[in-house]
Amino acid sequence: VGVADKHSFQTETQKILHIVAESLYTEKEVFIRELISNASDAIEKARHLQLTSQKIMDGDLPFEIKIATDDDKKTLIIQDTGVGMTKEELIKNLGRIGYSGTGDFLKNLGDNPDKASVIGQFGVGFYSCFMVGHTIKVYSRSAAVGSKGYLWESDGAGSYSISEADGVQRGTKIIIHLKPNSYEFAKKATVEAIIKKYSNFVGFPIALNGQAVNTIKALWTLNKSQVTDEEHKEFYQFISKSYDTPNYKIHFATDTPLTIRSIFYIPSQHVEKYGMGRMEPGVSLFSRKVLIQQKAKGLLPDWMRFVRGVVDSEDIPLNVSREHLQDNGLIQRISQVLVKRILKTLDDESKRDPAKFNVFMNEFAGFFKEGLITDFKWKDDISRLLRFESSHEDLEADNKNTSLEEYTKRMKPDQNQIFYITVPSREVALSSPYYEPFKNKGVEVFFLYNTLDDFVFSNIGHFGDKKIVSVESKEAEEFISKDQEKLKDTLSQSEVSDFLKWITDVCGDKVSMAKATTRNTSTPALIVDHESATFRRMMKMMDPSKQ
Ligand code: ADP
Ligand code: MG
Repeated sequence: VGVADKHSFQTETQKILHIVAESLYTEKEVFIRELISNASDAIEKARHLQLTSQKIMDGDLPFEIKIATDDDKKTLIIQDTGVGMTKEELIKNLGRIGYSGTGDFLKNLGDNPDKASVIGQFGVGFYSCFMVGHTIKVYSRSAAVGSKGYLWESDGAGSYSISEADGVQRGTKIIIHLKPNSYEFAKKATVEAIIKKYSNFVGFPIALNGQAVNTIKALWTLNKSQVTDEEHKEFYQFISKSYDTPNYKIHFATDTPLTIRSIFYIPSQHVEKYGMGRMEPGVSLFSRKVLIQQKAKGLLPDWMRFVRGVVDSEDIPLNVSREHLQDNGLIQRISQVLVKRILKTLDDESKRDPAKFNVFMNEFAGFFKEGLITDFKWKDDISRLLRFESSHEDLEADNKNTSLEEYTKRMKPDQNQIFYITVPSREVALSSPYYEPFKNKGVEVFFLYNTLDDFVFSNIGHFGDKKIVSVESKEAEEFISKDQEKLKDTLSQSEVSDFLKWITDVCGDKVSMAKATTRNTSTPALIVDHESATFRRMMKMMDPSKQ
């Protein structure tokens, strides 16, 4: 073993090192993410070297990452069997901040598909260990056959030293001597939780104090057909920290406008209905299998907060701390693609298994209605998914729900509108004088039982080219009276007009017009062409003077 060489960090490195250690990262714990990412990159490079048929040092060593905590010595050790570093590489890569040996490696890779597995790019991650360590020792031995082992050591102040070291195996072993305010990172449970949070899906096995940690695969990186239901269930339970079985899964990959690999799950139940407060968003953003934002806001719209899942995009531009994206417009574009896909899949599912879908929609309808009202751009897609009761007689006894699309398929040849009535219950609807002429004519009517649905229908407005109108509207009246039989001659023309004149006189400006009709047979008179009853109730609620 030779004498230690002393080197000073470059001046800029000294300054930046201070920034990295003090303020670049919001959470100290991310140094673990950074060191594991480096270890994974190093192994990826060793694998690449071996694949391109070059002999590597210690060729039998398995590709793995070993982490060890020591609560007595207050140390944390992270060791990999990757490419390691020669003395020159130690100086170049660890002595100079902002220099990324990994970045160079990527440039040389060209279009090789292995590129997507490499994480590093900024050349600052390594220094994050000075946030928690007062002394860092890096033992490293390059994979180049015949290379020697070295120890790089620094207190992160002004200098580092390098000396030859015996007994070093291929790869890199980093020993962090923790500062007193960071002793928590010598505890196994703490470190395990952090590994699971950020680095659970890196592509190589991680063992913590001899035990495997990352046993769950990054399913989103696999082909759909490679993943079993059992694996989906396990993965879903891991990311959503729950014990149920997902109702629907959406495994989606695209390369435009960006490379996105994603998996979404729709749980079988949600907790908001128990009044347990608003759910948090359930989709996390990853880049190259490393967590960027847990439960990311903005990835899916807020009303989709019941969806659980993972989105990974290898080419999203990250800031240096890898905690934020540089481009917010980009996230919005990704979001649009994802929402479209989720809604499309649900529409397909609704046709594949309508009964299952109906159960799902009964449970989650509130979210979709919220989406329809608050997020106008998805109105059409959402309105296809919603289900409401209707008067159609062939619906099942225990499920009278139907879709707007099915309704339009059953419409009469001369019918151009979709009709609905807002009533307290099915019984009231069936005996309502407004519904009566539709029933007689065999025209289907949606039965809405609450103010929200009435509001949702007014928001939908149109379905395709069909206008949605209340049975109390003028359009409904025109539709019903257009093929009316001639008035039976029980009353003469002049008697009818006298009677209508009398009504308008008595009602004054409360009605604008009165007319005779054969639309109803069991009700003498009806008010039509006014806001729906529910709408009037809502207006009253908002304007106390009208109460
Ligand atoms: P980045 O990972 O963004 O390149 P880092 O500061 O994390 O930046 O690391 C700087 C460089 O040090 C890496 O690019 C890599 O060349 C080298 N390096 C860091 N950790 C290891 C390791 N465990 N094995 C081999 N090389 C490493
Ligand atoms: Mg790195």
